[in-house]
Amino acid sequence: MSRFFDVCIIGGGASGLAAAVYIKQKNSTVSVAVLERLSRVGKKLITTGNGRCNITNSDEAITHYHGRNARFAEYALKKYPNAELEKFFLSLGVPFVYDETGRAYPASLQASSVVDALRFSCDALGVETFTECKATDFTKNGKIYTVKTEKGDFSARNLIFAAGLYSGGIKLGCDGGVLKLLKSKGEKCVAVTPAIVQIKTAGDLARSLKGIKADAAVTFKIDGKSVRRETGEVLFCDYGLSGPPVLQIARETERRNGRKEVSLDLMCKRSEDEVISLLYGLKTALSYRKLDEYLSGALNKRLGQAVVKAAGLKLSGYVSELSSGDIERIAFLIKNFTFTAISTTGFDNSQVTAGGLDTDGFDNTTMMSVKNKGMYAVGEILDIDGDCGGYNLHFAFSSAFCAADSILKGVENDKA
Ligand SMILES: Cc1cc2nc3c(=O)[nH]c(=O)nc-3n(C[C@H](O)[C@H](O)[C@H](O)COP(=O)(O)OP(=O)(O)OC[C@H]3O[C@@H](n4cnc5c(N)ncnc54)[C@H](O)[C@@H]3O)c2cc1C
Repeated sequence: MSRFFDVCIIGGGASGLAAAVYIKQKNSTVSVAVLERLSRVGKKLITTGNGRCNITNSDEAITHYHGRNARFAEYALKKYPNAELEKFFLSLGVPFVYDETGRAYPASLQASSVVDALRFSCDALGVETFTECKATDFTKNGKIYTVKTEKGDFSARNLIFAAGLYSGGIKLGCDGGVLKLLKSKGEKCVAVTPAIVQIKTAGDLARSLKGIKADAAVTFKIDGKSVRRETGEVLFCDYGLSGPPVLQIARETERRNGRKEVSLDLMCKRSEDEVISLLYGLKTALSYRKLDEYLSGALNKRLGQAVVKAAGLKLSGYVSELSSGDIERIAFLIKNFTFTAISTTGFDNSQVTAGGLDTDGFDNTTMMSVKNKGMYAVGEILDIDGDCGGYNLHFAFSSAFCAADSILKGVENDKA
């Protein structure tokens, strides 16, 4: 026997819970089921923003989104900008605060408060939530969808796929089964790769600098061409590079062919000429020193030594012996301290998945499948990924609201 609902939502994460609450807030008579494969809803959401949940960003430019057709996201983001998200979350008792960089968080600064607000609202509004209830298949008979789960069958006129994708690994929910299922039913998919993730680099250079943090402008290059540049604190690790600017530029590491490099500008506030004159000044001031101490006031000591070595110089040599060629080489390396990117550290460490359901198969105003009326996809499962900074949750929520609006309209039309 199948349980029947007006709306069946596969996935009790950010977008699934938001869609459920939104629908019930607008029309309490619509019956909504949320099917969640894990033992609790919102497991990924609770880990977001280092436990603080960076929910959106004051810079709402569409250029922060990526995908084969990133413009797909524009309608949802414009219909549900920050002000609308704030209104929705305020109705659940969660005001936002913005930090100095424009990132918005719940005023509690606790992601758990966002999960609780959604979960308690689901309960209060009569959303039926089924945990440990993995959707394994679905069929369509006339206008009715039937979802097969570990806890029996669920039928509904409206089916929302809000099952997320691989970011954070299987422990946070997604085993990729829903994407494969949709593929087997004829939906087109764009290849998936980790994004907002650390980069593994070739050789031992990063490992030798393990634990050091340095402010840098970080450029991702493919075949020598700059693809993206971000500034911030880089962390050297045993596998390669981490830190906010590295996560932000990592998206193309596994998506594109070619020679991939990450180049660090270790003195990004000075031009190369200014670095050269600084180095001449240091030569004059420190001529009595050995080269292992040449850059110790200008860069982290071990990093400075690595630059000197990379310039082909012995640390036991004297500063006074530096030629103008040596100084130019050191300056170039300070501005272009380059690593070969091999891969990322994988989905388990990534904050979002690039790729997913091809957006050509969905209407960007409703998130409804072009082929299957009443079937929707929202959030990370779609081929839309945002930059680090609250963009992915913003898309998860705004796409969920668009699907919810379409469902509510359909329900009203059915009644009329
Ligand atoms: C560590 C980390 C930090 C992050 N920080 C931020 C941040 O600060 N700001 C930001 O904007 N974004 C952040 N993100 C990204 C953000 O969490 C996701 O983009 C967002 O959660 C996607 O929402 P979603 O509803 O599409 O998927 P999810 O939130 O992943 O929800 C999908 C749900 O579907 C369930 N599910 C999967 N398969 C099935 C199935 N077969 N049957 C039933 N249920 C199923 C899963 O268990 C899961 O609960 C972060 C991600 C990670 C991993």
